[in-house]
Amino acid sequence: MLGLMQSHGLMISSILKHAARHHGESQVISRTHENTTHRYSWADVERRSRRLVRAMQAMGLEAGDRVGTLAWNGYRHLEVYYAAPGMKAICHTINPRLHPDDIAYIINHAGDKVLFVDSSFAPLVSAIAGRVADTVKAVVMLAAPDHMPEVTLAPGMKLICYDQMIDGADEDYAWPLFDENTASALCYTSGTTGRPKGVLYSHRSTILHAYATALPDVLDIRASSRVLPVVPMFHVNAWGIPYAAALTGASLVLPGRHLDGASMAMLLNDEQVTFTCGVPTVWLGLLQHLRSSGQKLSTVKRIMTGGSAAPPLLIEAFRDEFGVAVEHGWGMTELSPVGTYNAPKPKQSELSKDEAAQHMLKQGRVLPGIDMKIVDGSGKELPWDGVAFGDLLVRGPWVASAYFGDQPGSACDADGWFATGDVATIDPDGFMEITDRSKDVIKSGGEWISSITLENIAVSHPDVAEAAVIAAVHPKWDERPLLLVVPAPGKSVDPAAVMALYEGKVAKWWLPDEVVVVPELPHTATGKLLKSSLRTQYREHYIKK
Ligand code: ADP
Repeated sequence: MLGLMQSHGLMISSILKHAARHHGESQVISRTHENTTHRYSWADVERRSRRLVRAMQAMGLEAGDRVGTLAWNGYRHLEVYYAAPGMKAICHTINPRLHPDDIAYIINHAGDKVLFVDSSFAPLVSAIAGRVADTVKAVVMLAAPDHMPEVTLAPGMKLICYDQMIDGADEDYAWPLFDENTASALCYTSGTTGRPKGVLYSHRSTILHAYATALPDVLDIRASSRVLPVVPMFHVNAWGIPYAAALTGASLVLPGRHLDGASMAMLLNDEQVTFTCGVPTVWLGLLQHLRSSGQKLSTVKRIMTGGSAAPPLLIEAFRDEFGVAVEHGWGMTELSPVGTYNAPKPKQSELSKDEAAQHMLKQGRVLPGIDMKIVDGSGKELPWDGVAFGDLLVRGPWVASAYFGDQPGSACDADGWFATGDVATIDPDGFMEITDRSKDVIKSGGEWISSITLENIAVSHPDVAEAAVIAAVHPKWDERPLLLVVPAPGKSVDPAAVMALYEGKVAKWWLPDEVVVVPELPHTATGKLLKSSLRTQYREHYIKK
């Protein structure tokens, strides 16, 4: 027997309408390229998004069309986020930090008909225009008429000014109701292995993810929150914040392109931000700036860090020096992206300050709606004892079932489990801790060693700015850990002092066989360590000697 409740589809437009109607006074504040501050309300976002739909329809865009964006976090980008899915088109955010070859590949693979581009990416668009001309018919510059940049497009491609287009558009669009499983947004993974792959979100997955992330034990976003996503809207939908903010009626602060410590500190204080989220490198930059300038954070209560493991220093320094809680979450493009969040259970209130900081290094508990498990090499489920580590699998309504262009279900096993490519432990309370990427784990004499654990210990040395541990081939043990460290500015690193830190913290056979001091480490387009390139360089370090 079916229930007798209304079955309105979960529509992205419905949260925008809700924000406009019930939180019309909550603000959306953007730092622009021209270094000015643009302010308007959720009611304005909704009205202008309706105009944008009309403008896109006038351009000939239709349901199912992919609308590419190459843009920082800003209000015009936000309008594309809502207008495209609101007309059954797909907002395809493109990461401009990728190599131009990858960007051209992604645009062609997605079949973007139009690109909405921030003026700072005009040179990038000029460089790739010829390679994407088969699919892209127009480039819309997200700018006012007097700030249109120089850009060279391919023959046949139209150049359009966003503000002019919006000013000339009608406002009479009514947001339609349709199948909630309709595709809404597309985001490619960075492709640290192989070509980038597209994850195609739906209205339903996006709304369910927004509901779950806004919960008190997750991002805890409310109407009174002022939220600044540092994590870019061009990478995994800024962790879904543009949607969760509308859902709850929170004010949204969009930082534009300047993400250095000084710019962040100013914006966080000027706009009275209460909650912000981003990757550890951004927070390390902010910490450095606050320490050297003596500035404080006047309104920020919580910082969410994710995207890569939280360095212990971050948690302790923000807590002790600035009274700000650093909270740890985990996710990935294929998970919309948030999968776990480290919010305490009653038991954790008994932890001492140091134990609580240590506990925050775990990536956290699964969000309601997501199911997770860890398995060994043969697929056998491992116990939740906080010790056994294995491949982390997830499933749930905001987990990808296939990549764009592939057969539905092809990214999961027969029971719907998606292999994350991460290796993790889960403790008896359900807190998951990533110990490695499966391709980065060190397999020594048949046993696994976690590179992240070893890195975290190395960076706790004050003279170490950054550390990477990789598996180097070993004649006896197959692989042994090799530690690469970058000295902090103006410091030199004593390898023996770093090795001394491991004493009593890990098993003796986990110790790196050698420490190599290097001036810098390579990073991916999303700021993560590029271990594949380190492996190419150092893989044979122990056998070459
Ligand atoms: P990419 O950077 O390849 O585009 P994602 O942004 O989707 O892809 O990255 C997801 C991966 O980032 C996860 O599978 C995991 O390895 C890593 N990651 C995300 N959050 C954390 C975290 N808090 N701690 C450790 N690793 C993390």
